[in-house]
Amino acid sequence: MKRISILGSTGSIGQNALDLVRQAPGQYRVVALTGGDNIYRLASDAREFGAEIAVTAHENRLAELRDALEGSGIAAAAGRNALNEAAARPTDWVLSAIVGAAGLEPGLAALRDGVTLALANKESLVSAGPLLMSAAARSGARILPVDSEHSAIFQALSGENTAAVERVIITASGGAFRDWPLQGLAEATVAEASRHPNWTMGQRITIDSASMFNKALEVIEAREYFGFHPDQIEVLVHPQSLVHALVGFRDGGLMAHVGPHDMRHAIGYALNWPDRLVLPVDRLDLAAAGSLEFFNPDNARYPALGLARQVMEVRGLSGAVFNAAKERALDHFIAGNLRFTDMHGVVAGTLDHLSSEPGLIDAEITLDSVHRLDHLGRIAVDDLVGRKPG
Ligand code: NDP
Repeated sequence: MKRISILGSTGSIGQNALDLVRQAPGQYRVVALTGGDNIYRLASDAREFGAEIAVTAHENRLAELRDALEGSGIAAAAGRNALNEAAARPTDWVLSAIVGAAGLEPGLAALRDGVTLALANKESLVSAGPLLMSAAARSGARILPVDSEHSAIFQALSGENTAAVERVIITASGGAFRDWPLQGLAEATVAEASRHPNWTMGQRITIDSASMFNKALEVIEAREYFGFHPDQIEVLVHPQSLVHALVGFRDGGLMAHVGPHDMRHAIGYALNWPDRLVLPVDRLDLAAAGSLEFFNPDNARYPALGLARQVMEVRGLSGAVFNAAKERALDHFIAGNLRFTDMHGVVAGTLDHLSSEPGLIDAEITLDSVHRLDHLGRIAVDDLVGRKPG
């Protein structure tokens, strides 16, 4: 039986993963589940799946978690160290599905010889790609992408010579405001930005899809994970979200990965890799799906994509600054301190402000150096906004 742990099990990706486990009785044994605020879900899932341990990120919620697990024999723990320890427990497969830079340390802690780290937490690759990839190479762990676009690229590359790849095309739905008049975007509310046209996801990635900051992260993620040159990575708006990515080869051939918008496909692929097992996802009826459209992204509507190019040019620790600034700008938008369209300016201003920070380009990428730049990025955003988010 495959032993698995899920970091961020109470979130959208975590719940999809648990659904796959639920629908394949006897195939997987759950070792650790981790969450944040949602103690009820964490405890009830730990009971349902017979986890060894449940961990909340928040130390002040430990008593509540203990109460909720009373009599179950399941260990309860809380806080950053406990998360890292849970991630490091012996298992065959760990899903990194914590949202934000908070996923970096537990993801690193999970990387042991023989383990597969299924990585949904794109923020850790953007902030510290070389750190994660070299830790995996050193320890003998394997990282598999869970983001649907990167899973699609990974699948299209299977059995191919990567030297023959000319370009990859990552698709984007265009998010909640794809068809809004540009002048209306400044007044967009948090509730409006939280409605994705196709996918059901956590709130933060949904808003990031509306601003295309999510796609900006994914472009950098493709750079860090596959090692493509930035010029090889293209983005196309594809409103139907059925083609997740395409890989173009030097002979002119394009391999597209097509599937329904259901994250259980990409999670299940990573869960069972290198096998393909039966997954409970809808089979796509292409005739019923109708036409598939593709457009070049409009830079005025989606300026975040340009920032991804800037970050890939600078490299070093600029990904850590970019991700932190994006996370903090989003906190401010959700708190009502920033307009939707102002997030881009604040992130751009932060990159600019820290562009001559010592070590940005040439410091070794370590957990400490990433944390330092992440911290400076968040402070710079607060300074630009003139307050803290909460
Ligand atoms: P959610 O917000 O739905 O879930 C996030 C998870 O992280 C929850 O379990 C949450 O706990 C936990 N969490 C929140 N803050 C912390 C913290 N500081 N420390 C530890 N755990 C924390 O996010 P999603 O599931 O949507 O996304 C998770 C990751 O997967 C993100 O990196 C996202 O970009 C990526 N991703 C998501 C996709 C999707 O379809 N949702 C698609 C592709 C990638 P709690 O809820 O209990 O507070």
